[in-house]
Amino acid sequence: MPVEKYLCVPLHRPKVAFFEFTACEGCQLQILNNEATLLDFLSLVDVVTFREAMQERSDDYEIAFVEGSITRTDEVKRLKDIRKKAKVLVAMGSCACFGGVNQLKNRFNNPKWVKEQVYGKFPVESEVARPLEDIVTIDLKIYGCPIKKEEVEKIVTNLVLGKSVNHPKYPVCMECMANENICLYKLGEPCLGPVTRAGCDAWCPGSRCGCWGCRGPADAANVEQIISIMEEHNFSVDTIIDRLECFGGFRGFAEELKKKTVKSKTKKKRAG
Ligand code: SF4
Ligand code: SF4
Ligand code: SF4
Repeated sequence: MPVEKYLCVPLHRPKVAFFEFTACEGCQLQILNNEATLLDFLSLVDVVTFREAMQERSDDYEIAFVEGSITRTDEVKRLKDIRKKAKVLVAMGSCACFGGVNQLKNRFNNPKWVKEQVYGKFPVESEVARPLEDIVTIDLKIYGCPIKKEEVEKIVTNLVLGKSVNHPKYPVCMECMANENICLYKLGEPCLGPVTRAGCDAWCPGSRCGCWGCRGPADAANVEQIISIMEEHNFSVDTIIDRLECFGGFRGFAEELKKKTVKSKTKKKRAG
């Protein structure tokens, strides 16, 4: 195959493969949906495996984009195998990065009961949902549920050009304010924008919908403070916990809040 050149410089188009685990495949769809720039994107990389888009398959790839969380033992084995083959492994989307919406089932302490409620007696293996980095080393994360296609293209361009990939360190609030949105707290809606990593251009608040934290915590996110703000706005502890638990990025904070609530309830009971 002739080497493609740009201004007489031979281009290296890395071989990339896309894989899905327990997921809705919405992140992969985001990439295919971007028709206006899809051809430019494809000129940068040599896609060798992408089940949603092509029949060909190859085990010879340099960059693996992996979508979904891990919920079965065969997925553990398959993920380890991908890790062995790929030079760069990218976790794509909230499911891969944090467990995503799939990890909501983990909050029921009895996985057997959850499985029965969903599948009845049908023999399906479905254990707790785990992010990829619980099993293998991840080189890069692309946040969001779903990922934002413009961001993926920027990240892939940087990877191909050998440039570093930097996610915004600041929270969604910065983008929201730059877009001159009305703050949803003023409209009586909760929002995790003050603590969630930016990069989505305040997608949800821009549509008058509070942020649910799909991109996980921003650097130095003051989650204690956002819990206080939500309490000041009279949102119940259950509302706060629901929001913190939704995508898995704030799960640790939700667990802490649950423990504190149980403790304070026990204290009140004893005092009363
Ligand atoms: S992160 Fe969201 S869009 Fe992407 S696979 Fe998971 S549930 Fe689907
Ligand atoms: S709506 Fe949310 S993201 Fe926007 S300024 Fe208010 S708290 Fe921040
Ligand atoms: S506003 Fe929040 S929930 Fe919505 S896309 Fe951005 S990070 Fe995700």
